[in-house]
This record gives sequence, C-alpha cells and structure tokens, in this order.
Amino acid sequence: DTAMLAVEELSLTVRRGEIAKPILASVSLTCAKGEIVGLVGESGSGKSMTLRTAVGLTPAAADVSGRVRVSGRDMLGASPKELTEVRSRTASMIFQDPRAHINPFQRIGTFLAEGLRMHQGKSKQDAARAAIALLAEVGLPDPARHMRQYPHELSGGMLQRVMIAAALASEPELLLADEPTTALDVTTQAEIMSILLRLRRERGLSIVLVTHDLDLAVSICDRIHVMYAGSIVEVASAAELARRPQHPYTAALFAARPGPDRQELRSVSGRPLGLYEVEGGCAFAPRCPAADGLCHETPPVARLVDGHLVACHLAGEPGTDTGPAHAAGT
Ligand code: SF4
Ligand code: MG
Repeated sequence: DTAMLAVEELSLTVRRGEIAKPILASVSLTCAKGEIVGLVGESGSGKSMTLRTAVGLTPAAADVSGRVRVSGRDMLGASPKELTEVRSRTASMIFQDPRAHINPFQRIGTFLAEGLRMHQGKSKQDAARAAIALLAEVGLPDPARHMRQYPHELSGGMLQRVMIAAALASEPELLLADEPTTALDVTTQAEIMSILLRLRRERGLSIVLVTHDLDLAVSICDRIHVMYAGSIVEVASAAELARRPQHPYTAALFAARPGPDRQELRSVSGRPLGLYEVEGGCAFAPRCPAADGLCHETPPVARLVDGHLVACHLAGEPGTDTGPAHAAGT
C-alpha cells in the first residue's frame, strides 16, 4: 500500500438532536506518493468535510463509517493523541484564509520558529535559521525582514506562502490544501501553484488540492475527483477529464467556467443540493439536462467508462455524450 491518503467508502452523518443530516456518502479518494490530486466541486458539496474527516477533524456528534489511512495509518480507529501526531508530523493543512489561522499579534519569525522547535526540537537559533530557509523556499523576497513583520504587514499571497512554510516545518509527506488561492488574484494564484509543483518535485510531497475551480485543478493536478452532494461523481486523470468529461456535472462545470479574461462570471444553472436534500435517484437530476425517468428513481453506481470512474446512468451511452467541446484551451 503506497497511497499517502486512502479514503474508502467514507460516509458521514451529523446528528443534531433528533435530526440526522447525511453529509458524505461513500466517498473514495486516493493520493499516491508524489501525486497531486484534485477534489473539485461547488461549495457545500462536502470537499472540506472529506479532508477534515480524513485527518480526524470530524465534527462533534457525527456518525462516520468507512476506512481512512494516512501513510498507512488507520485514522478512524486512531486515538485523539495519534490523530494529533499524524496532523502535526505527516499531513499538514493550508486553508483559504491564512489570517484566520495565524495569531495577528505574533511576528512571522516567532510563529514559524515555534512550529520548528515543537516539531524538530531545534534550538532558538537553529529554528530561526530554518524559518528563514523555509521563507526563502516558498519564494518570499526578503526572509530576514519578514521574520520581524506581523501578519497585517503582509499581503494575502505573502501570508499564504508563510502558511505553506509553516506547513513544511514538520516535514510532512502529505499537504492538504483547502481552497488555498480562492481569496487571491490570478497572478498570485499562479505563483502559489508553481510553489506547490516545486514542493512536489523537490520534496516528493503528495498534495490534495480542494477547489471549486476546475480549470485550476486541471492546470496542476495529476488526477481529479469531482464531488457533488457528498458523493464522488467522476474520477479521471486531469488530461482525460478535460478532454472528455463523462459526467454531466463535470461537463457543466467546464461549460460554466469564466472566459480567459475571467470577466464573465457564470455558474452551473440551478442550486446545488446538500446530500440531506436528495430524495432518491441521482442527486444531480434536478439540474441535469440529460436526466430521464430512471435518474429520478435510482441512484447511479460508479462504473468505468473509457477510463473514467463515473456515477451516471447514461455516461457512455450514445446520444448523451457530453462531448470534448468544453475542454478546449486547457
Ligand atoms: Fe444526469 Fe441521470 Fe446521469 Fe444523474 S444519472 S447525472 S440525472 S443523466
Ligand atoms: Mg470548503
């Protein structure tokens, strides 16, 4: 088993009093060593919950079933102490809003050095040296100066680099990145992505990128999992997914993406459902242009269609081809 992350048939239901709200339904996702894997879908589809549950950050009062292994270690059966250890040594996370995860009154140098001393038992001087090296590794222009700065003195993009540096302090094997560039402009986003690619190349880091941006995922990921209403609806290599999306939702995401100038904002028509709102049948049926009677009655089971794993009754059938036309330009 060489998977850095192996999520198998993960289901999660949150309970509040009498009400049970299913959030994830039999989610399977893998990330091999050195692989960059995308988890793509609209907000509310369960992407963040999948990541968080995988590393033991499960909401209170949740029923969880399935199997999760991080670098071979069973996560669902692990003690809180073991989970904390995996999160601090093996699997680091970065998030959309770095400011929510950093103490505004602490200098960048103190923040990083604390992490380094905790993880690597370094002396104060060694930790400061290592922190400067990390800031240089993530491409910050003046590491020695940034060490003395406070978070508010840095731009969002610079602060996200600091968070990546902090995530590297424990020398993790796996980086879980939850919408790391969603709040950033396109240029900064591209810079952060090239840092992630370099970290994979130079450190052999495995990366799971959670994003609502299918283009972004195609640009950096080896494989992509598309998620809808708490389920994985399609898995394929990034190139294959872009060339010929098999699931109508994937095709709709490609069709809805903004143009090259990112001026035009479009979205998949209709409202995304939460898993708890699905009334049987395919969760995408209310928005699917191809839906027929069977779709409203029976939930589709994932199967292989032209090398894509796809959960759609009609995928691969003549006349419902979602076509390669959406994929030009990636
Ligand atoms: Fe559309 Fe039916 Fe496929 Fe669901 S199963 S995506 S409703 S065609
Ligand atoms: Mg999220």
